[in-house]
Amino acid sequence: MKAVIVGAGIAGIATSIRLANLGYEVDVFEANDYPGGKLTQFEQEGFRFDAGPSLFTMPFLVDELFSLSGKEPRHYFNYERLPVVCNYFYEDGTRLNAFANHKAFAQEIEKKLEIPAAQVEKHLHNSAEIFEHTHKLFMEQSLHQFKNFLNFDTLVSIANMYKMHIFSTMHEVNERKLKHPHLVQLFNRYATYNGSSPYKAPGILNIIPHLEHNMGAYLPEGGMHSITLSLVKLAIELGVKFHYGQKVEQIVVTGRPKQAKGIKVAGQVLDYDLVISNMDVVPTYRYLLKSEKAPEKTLKQERSSSALIFYWGMNAEFPELDVHNILFAQDYKAEFAHIFDIKKVYSDPTIYINITSKRTEGDAPAGGENWFVMVNVPGNQGQDWDAWIDETRENIIQKTSRILGKDIRPLIATEAILDPRSIEQKTSSFQGSLYGSSSNNRYAAFLRHPNFSRKIKNLYFCGGSVHPGGGIPLCLLSAKIVGNIIKERHGEVKANCSASKK
Ligand SMILES: Cc1cc2nc3c(=O)[nH]c(=O)nc-3n(C[C@H](O)[C@H](O)[C@H](O)COP(=O)(O)OP(=O)(O)OC[C@H]3O[C@@H](n4cnc5c(N)ncnc54)[C@H](O)[C@@H]3O)c2cc1C
Repeated sequence: MKAVIVGAGIAGIATSIRLANLGYEVDVFEANDYPGGKLTQFEQEGFRFDAGPSLFTMPFLVDELFSLSGKEPRHYFNYERLPVVCNYFYEDGTRLNAFANHKAFAQEIEKKLEIPAAQVEKHLHNSAEIFEHTHKLFMEQSLHQFKNFLNFDTLVSIANMYKMHIFSTMHEVNERKLKHPHLVQLFNRYATYNGSSPYKAPGILNIIPHLEHNMGAYLPEGGMHSITLSLVKLAIELGVKFHYGQKVEQIVVTGRPKQAKGIKVAGQVLDYDLVISNMDVVPTYRYLLKSEKAPEKTLKQERSSSALIFYWGMNAEFPELDVHNILFAQDYKAEFAHIFDIKKVYSDPTIYINITSKRTEGDAPAGGENWFVMVNVPGNQGQDWDAWIDETRENIIQKTSRILGKDIRPLIATEAILDPRSIEQKTSSFQGSLYGSSSNNRYAAFLRHPNFSRKIKNLYFCGGSVHPGGGIPLCLLSAKIVGNIIKERHGEVKANCSASKK
């Protein structure tokens, strides 16, 4: 049994490991000449930068792939839990340290905002409860197989659905429960972890703070890219073959009923028993499955936000900053209206600054820091990005200098820029969105593309644009779901080479 995976993003790599463990012969074709898709890094003038993701949660999902393969995870990949999840800065001078210890965090809020610590702890507890009641239903299994709605865990989730605030927005819930505008803004921010707006996304997304505050924010040794590299190493050890610089041109579909039979690459057709696309689902249909009827309603779902990133090598150190830092916009609602409705870059954006050299010495020259400076922006729909880059750069420099009380302009020693166009061009992510489709409506989870094709046998999908969604943890879970469905439908090759091919 031979399987081919289109794309070596994190979900493609994880799927290759799961299928190799089932005994499949696995080939991965990747358009770039490196693995990882969005999860990569680069170096410039002595500074190392994580190019894409910077926040790592649920590390056990990476460990699981090593354990599943009979390997000791710590021999391949290490990470530390961060003592401070994030430092928050507001224009009125308020500064909050979100300590990983939630008692310390709640006390910080009580001290600075006069909101009782117990109220903050209760909010985090509610977040844990949402996770408890929903993760099995929404994150760990297909939402598109009827049988999954009949198991005990799902029935418990459904029975508890009334507690999940699906009929209120995140903002409405946070405002009702947390009162202080700074605290509401802090918790509203979690909508951006899957590229959505807290003013539109349902309250159930208040699950996200649980991942960071209760389960922890982690820093991988060697940078985020070590997630990619360690998993590629494991996959190669399991016999997976990676083919870089090989852009797949077509998924070959034949017969009645329709069946995926392989791929076309460099004009050559290669036969496989199973095809798994880790390419964004929109271009998968538009370019690789041109002759097939596309699920238009699914493909037309609103996309998640994209990002404008300035990678700045700074030749100074900033003791008030930590690994993760947020400098909030004054008018958060206006910022999200710009991202999702007006589709322009907002003039006073919330600025995220990630600095790994705070804990990893070699990431910047002595006395310097590697700043990853990101603002959330709309997806690429042909706007004038060049003009917005200049304007936004200026706004960021002014706001950051104002808040830190120091002119940062002369301290920028080196610069690189990533915008929605380049994200789209480097990863084929439709509109350069970071997380596939947005969660800006209460049915979003059900409207994502399934992990399999309903029309074409032997065709599967993993990655941030399909169920259960974007972000490293969910991409890893998409690989797990695909692995489980393939095992169920096609069997384990090790156990039985002629295993049923239904
Ligand atoms: C700037 C940025 C910041 C982010 N921050 C975070 C964060 O802090 N934490 C977090 O968890 N997540 C974050 N994310 C989201 C996270 O990076 C993604 O959800 C995840 O990496 C997507 O993985 P994927 O498996 O879907 O594939 P992708 O990374 O999208 O990779 C798909 C791969 O398929 C390849 N491909 C496409 N078409 C073809 C073809 N025709 N033939 C061959 N290969 C093809 C592409 O070249 C690419 O390598 C961020 C993303 C970005 C861009």
